[in-house]
Amino acid sequence: MCLGPLPELLRALLSRFFLVENCYPGKVRFSRLLVAHILFWRKFANSVKSGCVSPELKAAGAIPGRANTEINLPGYSRAGIRKSKTGRWRAAALILLNLFMIAHIIQWRLMGRTVSPIEPSETMYTLQNGFVNAGFIFFSLAILATLIFGRFVCGWGCHILALQDLCGWLLKKMGLHPKPFRSRLLVYVPLGAALYMFVWPVAYRLFSNPGRGPIIPKFTNHLVTTTFWATFPSVAVAIPFLFICGFVTVYFLGQKGFCTYACPYGGFFGLADKFSPGKIRVTPACNQCGHCTATCTSNVQVHAEVKQYGMVVDPGCMKCMDCVSVCPNDALYFGFGKPTLLAPKSNLIKRHYSLTWPEEIVGALVFLGSFLAVRGVYGLVPFLMALGCAAVTTFLTLKTWRLLRARELSFYRFNLKSSGKIHKAGLAFTAFACAWIGLNLHCGWVRYHEFLGNIAFNKVHLPDELALAQLDPAHWLSPADRENILQGKEHYLAASRTGLFINNEVLQKLAWFEYLLGDAAQSVQTLRTAAAHQKDESKALSLYYRGAILNRLGRYEEARASLDEALAERDDLILARQEKGESLWKLGHREEAVSVWNDAVQRNARLALVNNELAGAARVSGNTEQASVHENQADQFTPNNALYHWVLATRLQDLGMTDLAEKHFQQAKQLDSSGELPAE
Ligand code: SF4
Ligand code: SF4
Repeated sequence: MCLGPLPELLRALLSRFFLVENCYPGKVRFSRLLVAHILFWRKFANSVKSGCVSPELKAAGAIPGRANTEINLPGYSRAGIRKSKTGRWRAAALILLNLFMIAHIIQWRLMGRTVSPIEPSETMYTLQNGFVNAGFIFFSLAILATLIFGRFVCGWGCHILALQDLCGWLLKKMGLHPKPFRSRLLVYVPLGAALYMFVWPVAYRLFSNPGRGPIIPKFTNHLVTTTFWATFPSVAVAIPFLFICGFVTVYFLGQKGFCTYACPYGGFFGLADKFSPGKIRVTPACNQCGHCTATCTSNVQVHAEVKQYGMVVDPGCMKCMDCVSVCPNDALYFGFGKPTLLAPKSNLIKRHYSLTWPEEIVGALVFLGSFLAVRGVYGLVPFLMALGCAAVTTFLTLKTWRLLRARELSFYRFNLKSSGKIHKAGLAFTAFACAWIGLNLHCGWVRYHEFLGNIAFNKVHLPDELALAQLDPAHWLSPADRENILQGKEHYLAASRTGLFINNEVLQKLAWFEYLLGDAAQSVQTLRTAAAHQKDESKALSLYYRGAILNRLGRYEEARASLDEALAERDDLILARQEKGESLWKLGHREEAVSVWNDAVQRNARLALVNNELAGAARVSGNTEQASVHENQADQFTPNNALYHWVLATRLQDLGMTDLAEKHFQQAKQLDSSGELPAE
């Protein structure tokens, strides 16, 4: 900003905060925050030697690092470090990547079909279900490429890294240089998360089910999809996810905070990098000026590593090439040679950590607690977001602890505490940290109840068909079932009452407990609330169960409306068609009912109940030939099981199809060796 002549007093005042330059006679320019400049030198004072000068600076006669010396040369920072030329190429690549992602989504929205998400997490579905999708192919190729060229995919092809770089750039524009949070233990989180996501499901299947079926199911083609977003969180979750992982982690943990402490894909890429011959390497021209280390946003001690090993060995190096570009002696290059694993071990490079060992242990426990508290809470927080949140919680907890104990403490340029006195910035930091940690604790409380409710839910093994056969399923509940249901209901109610958001998964299960305990009317209301907050399949299921229970309550018109809504969400929900046919039959719309049942059996000819219902309807209309066709079809697919026959009989009796009902009651009695059936 170039200004005209200014009063001396104003000029003196502004010069405390800005760098002042004469731009032309009589006018001055105030540019860049002075504080940022001072902080920069404080930060890099140890790694950047003064007097390391590139040929261009020498020609310009500039000596960087001297007091009161301003480097004002295009392509150089004020500290006299070359600006990276590859930074622009990388920014262009990352912008292109984001545009490509947006185009992919638009193409899917317009055409309804597209290539499945090119996202490494999709590999989980390949390993668990055998789905060969674009994400699996991308991740496999990326790991193969990393084994040869090193970890460059992170630096040049990750949309979360693009967000982190954007945040780092914005903070630097504000004069804030993100300082890396360095932990010895938490760096293992990404690898642990990768093993949990990709190796644990396979190992679990191998050990829990030995000898039964292949470890990885048969591969099927899922390269093209119509449900592109099915495996992603909703937009309402994706926005905070990107904000926390791309911005909050950078502010508190450093420019690669998410990559270092949360990203599971980075865990595998970092491991593969150790095997790769492609490395940043050095020539004898290096004079240890430290410009490379000062520039590296992955916190690699480049100058020390190239001195010790002749190459960068840190697996955090993302091959962004900034160090190569800024080196004043052009001493760095990307080249092939020995991989990290073959480099001789050395302890000469001193690593500095942000935490003491006791703090590391407390930090690891805080991380674990926060992760368990946040992950999946309200059915909303996905795995990666929970890892990012847990890393931030760990930092805030330890920093707040230090704030209470230390005499001096700062954060960025803010003086939190000095001479034992907490300043306003310290109070603001504490308030933020307490709010964040308090939110974590609250999530932990809700999650605890959800967790115990889920345990109780999983202990009740009553099949839906049996429970929904008639209005009150009490006959089928053992005392242990009843106890579990009562306890589970209490936990779900506690989670719902104290939660900040509605957990529609919990509501669905709570509604089921209410139905099992005989409170069908309340169950119907709870399912309505759940459905109002759900989408797609889960919404369709809530509406289906609601319709089925309304049928048992004799509220057929409401049942039909609910089942129509379910089918509007998921047209392929055949059970909703079966129930809708029953509503229509009871309402006296018999032709419509038969049409809906016919539609159901055309989609699945093995439906025993619907074939029986069609047989019953044909008998009522006097079409015995048609009736026997459906009856034979039904018998062919009816399991030889007393309970199954009893369910068929009960449902057919309810519809007034007494002959068929009687037939199945008799078969049920014959098969009922243990006497578990209720009296007719
Ligand atoms: S590699 Fe280049 S930038 Fe890094 S310390 Fe050596 S001379 Fe300086
Ligand atoms: S060491 Fe060099 S290439 Fe690797 S991340 Fe740092 S600046 Fe980029």
